[in-house]
Formats: sequence, C-alpha cells, structure tokens
Amino acid sequence: MSHLLDKFRFFKKVKESFSNGHGIVTNEDRSWEDGYRRRWQFDKVVRSTHGVNCTGGCSWNVHIKNGLVAFEMQATDYPETRPDLPNHEPRGCQRGASYSWYLYSPHRVKHPLVRGRLLELYRAEREGGKDPVEAWEAIQVDESKRKKYTAVRGLGGFVRTDWDEITEIIAAANIYTIKRYGPDRVNGFSPIPAMSMISYAAGSRYLSLIGGVSLSFYDWYCDLPPSSPQTWGEQTDVPESADWYNSGYIIVCGANLPMTRTPDAHFFTEVRYKGTKIISMAPDYAEYVKFADLWMPVKQGTDAAAFLAMGHVALKEFVIDNPTPYFLEYMRTNTVHQIVFFGHRILRTTWVKIIIRIGNPLSSMQATVIWLCLMVRSVFVGAKKASGICWKKMPVISKTSMRS
Ligand code: SF4
Repeated sequence: MSHLLDKFRFFKKVKESFSNGHGIVTNEDRSWEDGYRRRWQFDKVVRSTHGVNCTGGCSWNVHIKNGLVAFEMQATDYPETRPDLPNHEPRGCQRGASYSWYLYSPHRVKHPLVRGRLLELYRAEREGGKDPVEAWEAIQVDESKRKKYTAVRGLGGFVRTDWDEITEIIAAANIYTIKRYGPDRVNGFSPIPAMSMISYAAGSRYLSLIGGVSLSFYDWYCDLPPSSPQTWGEQTDVPESADWYNSGYIIVCGANLPMTRTPDAHFFTEVRYKGTKIISMAPDYAEYVKFADLWMPVKQGTDAAAFLAMGHVALKEFVIDNPTPYFLEYMRTNTVHQIVFFGHRILRTTWVKIIIRIGNPLSSMQATVIWLCLMVRSVFVGAKKASGICWKKMPVISKTSMRS
C-alpha cells in the first residue's frame, strides 16, 4: 500500500513494542526509502577534477550511474610529499563537491548565444546576397544599423544560434577589422590554462598567428593583483600552499583562506602546531581571523599602507639608525635596493652636480634629457652591481647615502 494510504492506518500500524515501550515495530511500507538508496548507487568510479577556473586541481572520485555523474567523493590516496610535511589530503571544497549539479543545471550555457538584434541584422544582409564579410561591413558602416544593437548592450536579449553561424559571424568580424584597421586591433582573451589547456592554447595561438593581441587571461576575469607581475615580473608563479608549513610567521591579507583556498587552508591551521604566529589583516571578522594570534582590523584598502609602514620602520631601525649586518646582507642578496642605492650615489657625484647646476641656463627640455640619461645610466650601473659583478667593492650603506 502507498505511504499516503498507510497514513490513514496510523492507529493500527504499531505491531509490537520493545525496550519497555521505547521502541516500536511497525508494518508500514518503507519502499520509499529505496529512492534514497538509488540516489547513491553507481555503476563505476572514475578519477577527475574540476576545470572551472580552479587551480586547486583536487583529486575526486566521480561516481557514474547510467552515464551521468551521480555524486563525487574526495580522493584520499595522495602520495606523501616529504616526511616533515602534513599530507595534502583532504583536498576539496564545497563548490567542487556540488560541481555535478552545475553539469546538469538548466542554467548552464551549452549553446552559442548572440544578441537577437545583431542576428536579425546579419541574417537580413546575408539573405540579400552578401558574403559574410560584406554582410558584417554593411552593418558596421551604417550608423543606424550599428546603433540598433549596440544601444541595447547590457539589456540581455540573447538568442540561441548554432556553431556554424556564430563561427561565421566571428570570422567575418575579424576579417573586416583586420582589413580596415589592421590585425593589431583584434584583441582577445583565452580561457585560463587551469580551466582548459587546449582552449587556452587554441585561442592564444589564433590571436598570435593573425597578428592580434593576446591579452592575459587574468584580464579576462579580472582577479589578478596587478602589483604581483609588476613587482616580480611574472604572473603569480609562487610557491605552492604547502610551503606555508615552512613559515615561522604568516601575515594574511586579501584572502579568506578557508573560503577562498579551501583545499589548502589546512596547512594554514596545521602550521600553528609548530608555533608559527598568524597575523590576520582583515576589516571584518572573517573565517580565517579565528586562527590568528593577532587581528589587525584595518580599513578596507589600507593593507598596502600598513605594509609600507612596516617597511619604513624596518628600514629606519635596521638600516639607517642601526645598520645591522644580517639585515644588510639580506637586502643585498634578496632585494633590488642596490639599483636605487647606486642611482643615488651616481646623482651625488661631483660631475653630476656640476651638470645639474649648469642645467639652469639650458632649456628645460635639454635639462630633462640630461637628467633622464643620468637616471638610465645610474639604473644600469646599479643593475650591474646588483648582478654580482664588483660585489666585493660594494660600499657599505651609510646613513648619509640612504638619506640622500
Ligand atoms: S578547490 Fe574545489 S573546485 Fe577547485 S578542484 Fe578542488 S574541489 Fe574542485
């Protein structure tokens, strides 16, 4: 009998009791429970990860039933990396655990979409007998036609098309732009390699071959801290998160580790057992703040100022007021301070001072050119020194030179 009809037999469903009436045996239909059992049945298990712009690369056992992903479980067979480092597992996050829901979500975009007004315009031109590039050109050179679809950008209005048609439109647009403005006016993004190596390679190779501009994939999703490549000259190629375990003092800012770096957050908590101090610099009482020894609730956007202030104190107390051999040696071997330092020294030499003094009668342009030449030279000299040539001759930093 159905579960619903069983309900009407409520007063008769208890067959017997046990444990002095604390438990009962019923005769109700429990076949509805099979729905839950079937939910967790599977035919096979395959290994995979999530290519959703995630660099986590966690290992997951994907359980398949009737050719569909039924559910995923974290893999727990990571190899040990070294004896004194905690295991990488468990790795995973809530987004990854529910990833199979996205696979079959009705909201997932599985077909090319194009703005309806643009498609109408393009099809009308094509039906009029124009080839693809002529059709695209006809829309672009006609201000009223162009405005018809550009004026509604941001208002939705996308319709489904097929791959052949959308590929034709894109190709026609690219050819038109190249013919009229040149190939370097075609800018593009390629998906991040962490999402799909093939997609990344195909897009960047296409743009490179036609002479277009292949922008960084970080521009695509706008989450790169720009100062990272500006300072280090590369894109966040930093040690992996397990290296946190080798730290004695960690300052965290700009990231809420248990939420935004979930699979690696355990290294952050585990290293505390070694005595590592954790400082959190967060405007709110974020999840990771509870692991910290010290919470610096800075105002939003002022963490950079806090770090600059720390640098100022360190330079003043260990280089200028009290030059410390350990600190100076660290700066020599790990920083670019020599470039700045030698720049200052060059500018302080007598012949430079003379040129600067006679700069007055020169035109401002001449004085600027001379000054720029001197700066460039000082940077080259500094770089040469910093690279290790003439290392032994490097003068000891004095208070005066740093102040100048
Ligand atoms: S961090 Fe999350 S989304 Fe990324 S691979 Fe790991 S489980 Fe998947």
